[in-house]
Amino acid sequence: MRKKIVAGNWKMNKSWPEALELAQALAAHKDSFPSHVSVLIAPPALYLSGLKEALPSSIALSAQNCSQHDSGAYTGEISASMLATIGVTHCIIGHSERRQYYGETNEIVREKIDACLRHGITPIFCCGESLSERKFNKHFITVSNQLQQALFHLSAEQLPQVVIAYEPVWAIGTGVTATNEQAEEMHAFIRDFVAENYVDTVANSISILYGGSVNAANAAELFACPNVDGGLVGGASLKAADFTTIIQAAQ
Ligand code: PEP
Repeated sequence: MRKKIVAGNWKMNKSWPEALELAQALAAHKDSFPSHVSVLIAPPALYLSGLKEALPSSIALSAQNCSQHDSGAYTGEISASMLATIGVTHCIIGHSERRQYYGETNEIVREKIDACLRHGITPIFCCGESLSERKFNKHFITVSNQLQQALFHLSAEQLPQVVIAYEPVWAIGTGVTATNEQAEEMHAFIRDFVAENYVDTVANSISILYGGSVNAANAAELFACPNVDGGLVGGASLKAADFTTIIQAAQ
């Protein structure tokens, strides 16, 4: 069953008191969230434990990244098994900022997806093309390569445990949102591509989120697209009122 999901990626923002205040402000709106929408926040890793204590169970916690390894001499890293032990349920994997600034290849992303699944963490797998790839009409090739190289080694039982987030790089943090037509076209392409490589039931059970300058004003139209199952939201998730409006738009 495709689930509606709205996830907030806080990136590297907020002091601890500010993070707590934002989480509490969001929690205060929880009764206004549609019951069929799964709501997640992905704060900086340092705040995950503290926010676990502060949040109601209706707001789940996601990490923004994890190691592909389970334990060992990897200074500065956090493993999926550690996330699982503190009650984190999701982890963003392969965000374009990780790919761009930290050299994450499809191979590394694939290993991180596997690490999450080994420990019962739901990976939110990010894919999407750059501006030049779109200009040169290479966006479908880029996204299909990302899916094939990082995701399609999974079995038909495993794949529906992953959430896909289509995030065109040119739309992330730029204020330039994909049009509804561009978003729907790529989401339908992704679902069809999953169906071609697996079966229809797998394609119809996987949630595909849109990310890239979603805000309180454009969320309802984007989320109304037939193949868009919600959103991965950056900047607009840093304001409780805006993020609440976006959650309510996922009808
Ligand atoms: C993101 O970082 O995943 C994102 C979509 O950011 P923004 O909403 O700010 O474009």
